[in-house]
Amino acid sequence: MDTVVACSTPFGSSALSVVRVSGPKTKSFILSLQKKPKKIKHNSPFLASFFDEDGAVFDEGIINVFLGPSSYTGEDLAEISCHGNPIIVDRLISLACAFGCRLAEPGEFTKRAYLNDKVDISQAEAVASLISSRSLDGTKLTYKNLGGELSAKVSSIKKEIISVVGELEFNLDISEEDLQPNLFKVCSQKILLLKDGLDLALKGYKKTNLLNLGANVVIAGPTNAGKSTLFNLLLEEERAIISKTPGTTRDVLQDTINIEGMPIVLKDTAGIRKTKNKIEKAGINKTEKEMAAADLVLFFGKKQKTENNYIYIFNKADIKAPPSSGYDIKISALKGKNIKKLKKLIIKRLSKEAATPSLVLTSKRQAENIFLSKKSLEKALEGLFLETSLELVVEDLNSSIVSLDKITEKTTKEDILSSIFSSFCVGK
Ligand code: GDP
Repeated sequence: MDTVVACSTPFGSSALSVVRVSGPKTKSFILSLQKKPKKIKHNSPFLASFFDEDGAVFDEGIINVFLGPSSYTGEDLAEISCHGNPIIVDRLISLACAFGCRLAEPGEFTKRAYLNDKVDISQAEAVASLISSRSLDGTKLTYKNLGGELSAKVSSIKKEIISVVGELEFNLDISEEDLQPNLFKVCSQKILLLKDGLDLALKGYKKTNLLNLGANVVIAGPTNAGKSTLFNLLLEEERAIISKTPGTTRDVLQDTINIEGMPIVLKDTAGIRKTKNKIEKAGINKTEKEMAAADLVLFFGKKQKTENNYIYIFNKADIKAPPSSGYDIKISALKGKNIKKLKKLIIKRLSKEAATPSLVLTSKRQAENIFLSKKSLEKALEGLFLETSLELVVEDLNSSIVSLDKITEKTTKEDILSSIFSSFCVGK
């Protein structure tokens, strides 16, 4: 196994940087950095001067060595804290490479942790999600999976499915007259409960995504309605050009804001109107695509259809008398009237969209497997309802287990592993 090295903190000048080394050459490399090496003990940080090849000290810092298997990667691992100067970091990495280490790939430390059974694949995904999360609530949800909560819950669901399979298989071996009374009903009830749990997890995935990646909120409506004024107001800065001339905003402008802890990617779009101008038309096409993909649309206009991810806004309430119905909220973007109420409504709608899950999913891969597992449970339920052969029901239950296994399994295929770990940053 190679020994790998990387800087685990962002590139650039800072108070401190941390260089990580993992693999069999870790200890000897750490010894080679010092003139009078201290004896290396597990998790006992010590101050050391770092010597260059010419014998001069180029920095000093704290080194902590974790001896495998009691380390993040499961191998000997060192964390070298040095002063946060890219030249020092670069020198440490160059010395490690000259010593026979190589540069780590993105996510390679966590990949090694996975390969050495320190974490399962769902925990590794939680690491990636925790690093990229855009809100504190998102990190709180995700953090649970770092300790293996998802793995534990998935394995308890699996156990319950296995117990139903056991019950059905027992009944397969006996004659039809001796079938346990109410067998179909009892099994159906158990499976239904499990299916509902998976359903909830999928709904919760939406919430985790909103909290980690940010909700996609699009401001749309006719030209001159006050969309850019609202966009600027929510951003609390002059970002979009406001003008009485219709068709001023032609491209989609976006920025991230935070309302009550929820990260929101706010988008200002081109106003919708009939136009012969090609550039404006392209802008309007983009608007329609954005609206279709939005988690929530702040629409300047009257309620037309019952889209539950739309907030229908009446603007310019400072100069126009609002009608009694047809709108969710009446505001004045120019005067900042009812904006607090609008923010509350935005959060309410986004939260309604997503229940707090008991099973927190942090990746699309996990959600896809939960979806497949749920589909198989639905097929099994249908089989029990139609009283088809028990063998087929058992088969469906088994495929539901196979999908659950993929969430945490130890033998994930290399291509799936590569796609998971390539999204990590270097040094993690
Ligand atoms: P957009 O085309 O929908 O983005 O509209 P803008 O934000 O550019 O606004 C068009 C015009 O309406 C500008 O002159 C704004 O100052 C004005 N406007 C926007 N909101 C309000 C409001 O709440 N009250 C009043 N009186 N004028 C507003």
